[in-house]
Amino acid sequence: MYFENVEIGDEGRGGETGDDPGLEREIGREFGVVLTHDSGGFDRDGRPADHVAWRRAELLDLREVLRRLPPGALGSGPDRLEFRRSRANYYRRGDGIWVRKNDAGAYRSGVVRIFDASIGDRQDHAGDTSELAGFDAASPIRAMQQTLVHELGHVVEGGEGVARFHAAVGWREEHGEAVAARLRETRRKGVAADRRVYVAVGDEVFSYVKGQLPEGGAHSGGTDPDTWDYARSQPREYFAECYSKAILVPELLHEDLIVAPARRVEDARARPSAGARAEAIEDRDAMARQWATLRAEVFHLTDADVERRSLELAARCVDRSRRDALVSEFRAKAARAMTHEQLARLAARCLRLP
Ligand SMILES: [Zn+2]
Repeated sequence: MYFENVEIGDEGRGGETGDDPGLEREIGREFGVVLTHDSGGFDRDGRPADHVAWRRAELLDLREVLRRLPPGALGSGPDRLEFRRSRANYYRRGDGIWVRKNDAGAYRSGVVRIFDASIGDRQDHAGDTSELAGFDAASPIRAMQQTLVHELGHVVEGGEGVARFHAAVGWREEHGEAVAARLRETRRKGVAADRRVYVAVGDEVFSYVKGQLPEGGAHSGGTDPDTWDYARSQPREYFAECYSKAILVPELLHEDLIVAPARRVEDARARPSAGARAEAIEDRDAMARQWATLRAEVFHLTDADVERRSLELAARCVDRSRRDALVSEFRAKAARAMTHEQLARLAARCLRLP
């Protein structure tokens, strides 16, 4: 067996069983999951499984993010979900040589794998904060946490709500003779003549309307220039990315799917082209539908939930002079929440304010 890449990872203090096996067991018990790691040699499929173990800092990040998950996020089958720490994903080249991929994580058959590539903090929402999800500047989101929630998106992607989300996004499965030409057009100009972007995934081709999937994306501390690039690669990844953004950075998701598209409509009003205005309105409405479908059908959060929480908050606020301001602040922020857990955190936070 030959390896393309030399082992360069820093083993740190992680020994055979990791920095803190006690914490691993504690997390396993708290969330009903199993923590494992690759211990060298090869796995059941014959892939390299270089030794690596959970570091204590990684376990603490893991625990924080598991506490923010909505109910049912860890699966509903009889088998407990396994979180496996692995060095890297490998694929076998035509000549039989195993080559390391740069994947951050992977999910397959009840096993979420977390790779070294997710441990650095240079990508996506690493460095971002969220009041609703409870990540502040002192402990912002780590890349590994986003990878983990992304993979959990794949755990729940078979649900009916997710199918409704895909439909709301407007992904289309493409067949027929024109597809090859559309793909070439997309590669050349970034978009085909029918205003759709065509993406090939193995033997399949999908398309979406240019302008109805975000590009770039808002930040609250992070610096990645386009947090949506991977999301645009295919329907499954778009869902997994939206799922992870909803749980970790709901304010930024709201900005990208609701606020920014509405702003583009305002900007388009100043332009002479009626076509551009109509397009901006179409895009805004399409993205608002995506956001609303994700919230209602995947996270089961409704405006009625926000209203009920507002009333509870009003009832619990003893200082009558502050009540109206408090409740309206709650309503404004809760409009961007995606999970019940975020609503509860926001309500608790509002009550603690001086
Ligand atoms: Zn994925």
